[in-house]
Amino acid sequence: MSQPPTTAEAPGTVIGIDLGGTKVLTAVVAPDGRILSRDKMSSRGTSGYEELLARIAGSARTAADTAGIALDTVAAVGIGVPGTVDQDAGVVRIAPNLDWRDVPVGSTLTELLGLPVIVDNDVNVAALAEHRLGVGQQLSSLLGVFIGTGIGGGLSVDGGLYRGAHQAAAEIGHMVVKAGGPRCPCGRRGCMEALGSRTSITREIARRVAAGKSSKLVKLAGGDVRNAKGGALRKAYIGGDKLTRQVVDKSARYVGIGVGSLVNVLDPAIVALGGGVAENLGDRYVQRVAKIARRYIVDETARAVPIVTATLGDDAGVLGAALLAQQLSRATTAPAGPAVVETAA
Ligand SMILES: [Zn+2]
Repeated sequence: MSQPPTTAEAPGTVIGIDLGGTKVLTAVVAPDGRILSRDKMSSRGTSGYEELLARIAGSARTAADTAGIALDTVAAVGIGVPGTVDQDAGVVRIAPNLDWRDVPVGSTLTELLGLPVIVDNDVNVAALAEHRLGVGQQLSSLLGVFIGTGIGGGLSVDGGLYRGAHQAAAEIGHMVVKAGGPRCPCGRRGCMEALGSRTSITREIARRVAAGKSSKLVKLAGGDVRNAKGGALRKAYIGGDKLTRQVVDKSARYVGIGVGSLVNVLDPAIVALGGGVAENLGDRYVQRVAKIARRYIVDETARAVPIVTATLGDDAGVLGAALLAQQLSRATTAPAGPAVVETAA
C-alpha cells in the first residue's frame, strides 16, 4: 500500500470490523495487510443500535489495546454490515438480520471513536479483500460469490468496488435462475439464493427425509436436518451420503447457471466462491459449480475464467473493511476528518 504515513507512531494502521447477524469480528490491520490483533464478540442480545454500536466501539478499543497502539493513532475505521448501505451518508438503509433501518453507523462510530469511519455492505468488502489480498491479487477484476445461509456477491474492479447507480449492484443472490422456482426470502421466486443457499439445501434434504428417504445428515445434525451447520453438511457430503450429494449437487447446478450467466455479463478475470457452503464443501462442490458454469459461458476465451474457492475465509470481512479504511485515510486530509468521504471512483 502506498499511502503516506498519517501518524508517527503507527503509520496507516487501520481497524476493520465485520458486523454479522450473530457475531462481530474486529481486527487492527497494518498498512501491508497483516492482522496485528483481533477481537470477537456476539452481536446478539442488545436493545437498539446505539447499544450495539457502543459495544462495537469497545471492541475496536480492545483490539487497539491488544495490538499495543493508541486509538488516536489509528488512521481510519472500516465496517462491513449485512444490509444495503448508503455509503456517501454512512447510513445502513436496511439490515434485516439486525432489524436495522436507516441507522447512522458512520457518524455514530465517529462520535464514539473520534476517527473517520467508512461503511459498506459485508459481501462487497469480502469481494474487495479477495481481490486485493486473496485469490485475485494482480488481476484486473474479481467476482465474489458468497454462499452461506443466503447468497451474496461483490464485483471488485480496478479502482474499487462496482456499486451501481443506486448502490444496489451485485445482489446476485436474487438473480433468477429458475423462473417460477421456490420462494426466496426476498419474496420472489426462483432466485439463486432460493436454490443454492445452505438454507435451501437443508430444507430440501429435510423435505425428502420427511417423505421417507434416509440420510446420515439427520444424525450429524442432531436430529433435525434444518439445523445442520457447515461442518455437518461437509461430513455428509464428503462422506458420500447419497441424499446429501443429490441435493447439494442439484443446488450447485443452479449456482453454476448463475455464475455462468454472470460471467457472460461481466467477464471477470476470476470468480471466487466463498461463504460457508463453498468453503466447507470444498473442491468437489466448487468444481461442480465451475463445470456447470462453463456450459453456460458463451465466449470461448471467457470460458477459461478461473472459478476457485476463496482463500481468506472468516478474515475476508475484516480485511475488506480495513482496505476501505485505508482508502478513506488516503482520501482524508486530517485523521479526525469527516465521516463521509467517497472512496475510489
Ligand atoms: Zn430473492
